Amino acid sequence: MVNSKIIFSRSFEKAIKECIQKYDNNKILLATEENVNKLWVNHFNVLLDSYEIKKVIVPSGEKNKSLDSVKIIWKFLSDYGADRKSLLINIGGGMLTDLGGFAASTFKRGINFLNVPTTLLSQVDASIGGKTGINFNGLKNEIGSFREPVAVIINTDFLKTLDHTNFLSGFAEMIKHGLIKSPAHLQELKNFSLNNIDYLSLQKIIANSLEIKKYFVDKDPKEKNIRKALNFGHTAGHAFESLALEQNRPVLHGYAVAWGMITELFLSKIKYGFDETELNELTNWLFRIYGRLNIEKSDFERLLGLMIHDKKNEAKRINFSLISQPGQIEINCNCEKSLILKALDYFRVFRQ
Ligand code: NAD
Repeated sequence: MVNSKIIFSRSFEKAIKECIQKYDNNKILLATEENVNKLWVNHFNVLLDSYEIKKVIVPSGEKNKSLDSVKIIWKFLSDYGADRKSLLINIGGGMLTDLGGFAASTFKRGINFLNVPTTLLSQVDASIGGKTGINFNGLKNEIGSFREPVAVIINTDFLKTLDHTNFLSGFAEMIKHGLIKSPAHLQELKNFSLNNIDYLSLQKIIANSLEIKKYFVDKDPKEKNIRKALNFGHTAGHAFESLALEQNRPVLHGYAVAWGMITELFLSKIKYGFDETELNELTNWLFRIYGRLNIEKSDFERLLGLMIHDKKNEAKRINFSLISQPGQIEINCNCEKSLILKALDYFRVFRQ
């Protein structure tokens, strides 16, 4: 069950005032990261001062979703005497909401936190669902906890300063939501102009997307079964993301997920009869938005190896969440190696 209150607001100030009113002034703290602080949080200083809200700033970027950054936030919470009656406001993208959520969930065995996601990826995905965490020992999200924010404030104005590639990265997770649950949502995404973004209608579309994430988290908060639907595109996607990183040509997560969805749609065709015309149309559309990741046949073994090591896989089987048609998900789909090789080859040679 998603217990977080999700607030869609055109006014950040109004929404935050509503959320913090039940906390004592000296019990409210704020964590953000350098970029977001410069672009946004600094502009709210008058508001923050009026509630005596103290602020900590960690360095930006995924490499700082680390134990060092957690320590910075823990020390800040400790220095300001945070306790079970305190609230930590996390303002930033998924890196910061994962990090701040983890720091709050472990400080004094857990204090309340509120997420204000500022990237599209964090608005449609990372900021809700209760997964918090940090990277450790070279592994992504190696340490973490399940704890939900008390509330999430969604305001698309924040996205006006986001670069286009990060915007598209979040958009891929919305496409995933459409594919796994709602043809209507998929259609509204196809109709959405990515060149001339209408932030007002985007707010409504984000709400629809979040409903889908919420649906799966509500049914299965700890990802024992149906929440795995949200992994559609991610088994192959994570492999593409890791391969690209190893080859010194890193890609954003959502791009890798988009490419992963192409691969997994092909698997869906073979395993569950996903319509071939629709597969080719979706592949065309995704390649148009996300461009291509050029891979060679010689990369296939490594990609398979990376999929086997994906944490969702037991022993040597490779499990996928696939779809038989848009909106119809099939979880725990075991695919044999030869079939995955075919899917990778479909991805490699497809021409628009
Ligand atoms: P991010 O937080 O690193 O943000 C991407 C970049 O955008 C950063 O450089 C950041 O400084 C900048 N930025 C943030 N807000 C901005 C704004 N409004 N304007 C301009 N620039 C801005 O990354 P992300 O893509 O938001 O999130 C990725 C993280 O989310 C990963 O760590 C991933 O593991 C995590 N995640 C978590 C969940 C979950 O369920 N907890 C789900 C998906 C992803």
